[in-house]
Amino acid sequence: MRLKICHLYPDLMDLYGDRGNIISLVQRCRWRGIEAEVGLISLDQQLDFRDWDILFLGGGSDREQGLLYEDLCRRRENLLSAIEDGLPVLGICGGLQLLGKYYQTSMGDRIPGVDILDLWTVAGSKRMIGNMCIEADFLPDGSHGKQNTLVGFENHSGQTFLGKVEPLGRVVKGFGNNGKDGMEGVHYKNVFGTYLHGPLLPKNPHFADLLLSLALERRWGKRELKVLDDNLELAAHTYMVNRLKQQ
Ligand code: GLN
Repeated sequence: MRLKICHLYPDLMDLYGDRGNIISLVQRCRWRGIEAEVGLISLDQQLDFRDWDILFLGGGSDREQGLLYEDLCRRRENLLSAIEDGLPVLGICGGLQLLGKYYQTSMGDRIPGVDILDLWTVAGSKRMIGNMCIEADFLPDGSHGKQNTLVGFENHSGQTFLGKVEPLGRVVKGFGNNGKDGMEGVHYKNVFGTYLHGPLLPKNPHFADLLLSLALERRWGKRELKVLDDNLELAAHTYMVNRLKQQ
């Protein structure tokens, strides 16, 4: 079996090391004998989202978002078609913002998003920075029992507000989407958007495996993933959950 992972704008949207999520997905495939192909696609490069099994968009500064939004908007219909067909998408921070209607910078410049998700973002006067923990109901029982938390690190000025779309989870500790409504991220079909950097997936192996399971099922039919020894990963996860809950 083989999975094709598209890393979109890796040269522009990787200010926070989110490519570590790609490394995690590839390694968790290799540990299972699944071939993983990574495509690095950026501005003006040919891409049909329907050819890919997972789409990843990392985070970046306002400047980089301003450099790529026109390219992304040109890809809207193809991306929407793939998302409606169940393409698993992980968008981190700026990657989440660009899937919405717009991102308005602190200078008042409005960067259009691809307008696939009913959300919009307005930069606030202060950056929301720090470790974050959320509770998320979409996470299935993992190989190591129920895991309904995600941990990571946030660093954004954008305050995201959701329209008719579900959040990814509820903030346990941290700011989340806007520091006001207690919600974090966004979830629509197999699209997962979050402000959790870290990178996210190494300390949240249950989420990594959910993305892999969704991608395998969509491409190859339902498959049971071989259980991996995630004791180290989950020890790091649990340490952060406990530390943040005690603050
Ligand atoms: N530039 C956006 C903001 O500051 C996104 C930042 C990010 O991707 N961490 O909100």
